[in-house]
Amino acid sequence: MKIAFIGLGNMGAPMARCLIAAGHEVMGFDPIATPDGVPCCARVQDAVADANVVITMLPSGDILRAVADDIHPAMTQGAVHLDCSTVDVQSARDVAQAAEAAGLSAIDAPVSGGMGGATNGTLTFMAGGPVAAFETVQPMFDIMGQKAVHCGEAGAGQAAKICNNMILGATMIATCEAFSLADKLGLDRQSMFDVVSTSSGYSWSMNAYCPAPGIGPNSPADNAYTPGFSAALMLKDLRLSQQAAEAVDADTPMGARATQLYADFVELHGMGGMDFSAMLPHLMDKPRS
Ligand code: NAD
Repeated sequence: MKIAFIGLGNMGAPMARCLIAAGHEVMGFDPIATPDGVPCCARVQDAVADANVVITMLPSGDILRAVADDIHPAMTQGAVHLDCSTVDVQSARDVAQAAEAAGLSAIDAPVSGGMGGATNGTLTFMAGGPVAAFETVQPMFDIMGQKAVHCGEAGAGQAAKICNNMILGATMIATCEAFSLADKLGLDRQSMFDVVSTSSGYSWSMNAYCPAPGIGPNSPADNAYTPGFSAALMLKDLRLSQQAAEAVDADTPMGARATQLYADFVELHGMGGMDFSAMLPHLMDKPRS
């Protein structure tokens, strides 16, 4: 399988390395990054020209659309454009339509699992698009990830991703609030974890990514809140959820509040580069609002 990999940043570079380590022929392109161990072309059109699968891992829907305009005419008929970026649902649908018009097929397959998952090949993929194209890229999912779920037609992967991350943002804030309250009530953090992680308040934010340092499994809290998953990316995903909710007239008051709280955290307090679990020390320092 010949693969082109476009966008070799924090996620794309380790994902490309996993494919190379598994024996695939990979040609990369990135206008800025020059990651070790990934051969790259100077022109994106050259990277994609004879690839069976072109993977994109890009920052935004606008950039994805621009890259799609550049690469679709240069791709081989019948090839698959596999986009793993997190972007808005409409961009995913429009790019899929453009791919189809160019004689290609497209899958939107955003990921969960962060840089650790990208490095270790343990990402979860949530995919939208034609079943045949999903089956073509399944071997790549198997290398880069531990699980791939086919969620439906074009855009369904992005829909699943933003719904998941809307829950994640809300549960992280709720978990941080509960630790802050528990502290002030004199409740020992370890006791709090032992109870909640095995009671009805448990969640991924508490059990797998505990925001309190020294409690629960190793997490960014144990590394001075170095990401992990940055608060800026959490805010990006929450905003995508609110954009989608507005487009389909869905009422998401918790999602809206989580978006506002992360917007304040990132834009008012300049904490975008911290892990999103750093909401805990932030809330502890704040007076009651
Ligand atoms: P990043 O900023 O580290 O990497 C993006 C790369 O895209 C950069 O190297 C940039 O130079 C490149 N790029 C920009 N414009 C380009 C163009 N026109 N053509 C080719 N390459 C271009 O971002 P990242 O952390 O790797 O995230 C990539 C995507 O994955 C985002 O959509 C993000 O939301 C999503 N994501 C990230 C994480 C995470 O923990 N970092 C987790 C899940 C999902």
